[in-house]
Amino acid sequence: MSRGAAGRDMRSVWILILITGLPAGGSPLLLLEPEDFLEKYGYLHQDHHIHNAVEVQSAIREFQWLSRLPVTGELDSATLRQMAEPRCGVSDEGSQQIWAQRVNVIFTGKRHHRKRRSAGQAEKWYKRHLTYQIVNWPHHLSLSSVRLAVRAAFQLWSNVSGLVFQEAPGGPADIRLAFYEGDHNDGASNAFDGPGGTLAHAFLPRRGEAHFDMAERWTLNGHKGHNLFMVTAHEIGHTLGLEHSPVRHALMSPYYRKLGRSLVLSWDDIIAVQQLYGKPLGDRPVRLPGQVLDAALQEWEFTELQSRHETPGQPLYCQGVFDAITMDQNETVLVFRGSVYWTVSAEGSVSGPLPLRQRWPDLPPAIEAAAFSPLDSKWYFFKGKRIWRYKGSVLDLGFPRRSSDLGLPHHPDCAFYYAPLGHMVIFKGSRYSVLDLKTLHQEPYYPRRLTDWTGVPQGTNGALTRPDGRLYLFREQRFWRFDPVKVRVTRQGEWAKDLSWTGCSNTPQSNNVI
Ligand SMILES: [Zn+2]
Ligand SMILES: [Zn+2]
Repeated sequence: MSRGAAGRDMRSVWILILITGLPAGGSPLLLLEPEDFLEKYGYLHQDHHIHNAVEVQSAIREFQWLSRLPVTGELDSATLRQMAEPRCGVSDEGSQQIWAQRVNVIFTGKRHHRKRRSAGQAEKWYKRHLTYQIVNWPHHLSLSSVRLAVRAAFQLWSNVSGLVFQEAPGGPADIRLAFYEGDHNDGASNAFDGPGGTLAHAFLPRRGEAHFDMAERWTLNGHKGHNLFMVTAHEIGHTLGLEHSPVRHALMSPYYRKLGRSLVLSWDDIIAVQQLYGKPLGDRPVRLPGQVLDAALQEWEFTELQSRHETPGQPLYCQGVFDAITMDQNETVLVFRGSVYWTVSAEGSVSGPLPLRQRWPDLPPAIEAAAFSPLDSKWYFFKGKRIWRYKGSVLDLGFPRRSSDLGLPHHPDCAFYYAPLGHMVIFKGSRYSVLDLKTLHQEPYYPRRLTDWTGVPQGTNGALTRPDGRLYLFREQRFWRFDPVKVRVTRQGEWAKDLSWTGCSNTPQSNNVI
């Protein structure tokens, strides 16, 4: 939407507030930044950027109501934290009234005319058959998998409404989906803000545009990053004329939702689209459960990877990102992504993609961290709230176990065995934990701050120790080499280009180049 004001990134300021633990709203200086947020998302008017205390309090209340927080009217820590959550860039203005009207129609059966945004601008399409075009897409995802995800996202809506969608690859099309970085010529307030914060935005009918922040880590099957299918499905909702919903679990909630086990569309989403376009022709609405879609997305990418495998060139992970990386006792590097993994032998030959669950049965379809421990020659896998441990391909008795039982965080960034400590190290956000593999308990005095690892960034997606004892940490396309003797990062660069043992250089070289 073209409403909104603050084009700059305010997250750092809020994070600072949370870390320093200042009483929320204790400083009028800090209050200014949340006001920018409230302006951008339609809770405060933008005239002169001056608001009195009553206006601000009422805006905070409205924000808390739509975000399902306790309505206090205060900028408490929960409210500030919610403002920093990844979300859709479309303004929430008017969402509350439109939702109230929707509920009213359900209870009274009376239809009210929807408020018009401005004279002459209607908020729905006057045809039932709509075409769409994928203008561009993130380079680390294949067009065919993006296409399938986008088709499934449109199908969610056509399954429950009188609409029919068809891809028009060459255009022109009613709805265009495109990825942009930063400012992209639809107003400074719509400029994308890099990873996190605003993920995407779209325009109400009949402009037919949905824009996605190219700088996000988009994924279709991994659990790190933001699921492109979910965000696309949400933005399509806007292009059809839907506003944000205050209903918990609604796809049209302004905040990013993971693809989970539950149904993707809530009844509120369905009622909203049916009030505009009616029920599906003939049949009854078909709601797709997230679990089924998740499995379908896994299947698609796997098929895709296998077909690529037949064409020579680099393995797919080299162009983008992976979920986890580790090295076994034979110095074979293993790279994990979604439901598959690749191996890079000490000599540099690459095998894969291979199905994860063929080698480690009972693993979930994708993992978040993996580490081979030379101490006990076991494999450790981390996903969500659980840990799996294997000897070879055999799951150890009593596993999977709950991370919290071992004193470890949920959803770790990465895990690796670290010889200088003699233990497993787990990174998560700004902290790290140390796990004693013999007792399976977190060592005392941990977690500690990540700043102990001088030069290592937050949010790494994998780490491993090389035979020379140096630790390599990975985030997106970059790597950091941590020297355990100097206790700091001594080198960084692009792993696919600079580290031959990642299997990404076209000419296999000796494994000891770096
Ligand atoms: Zn939205
Ligand atoms: Zn845009």
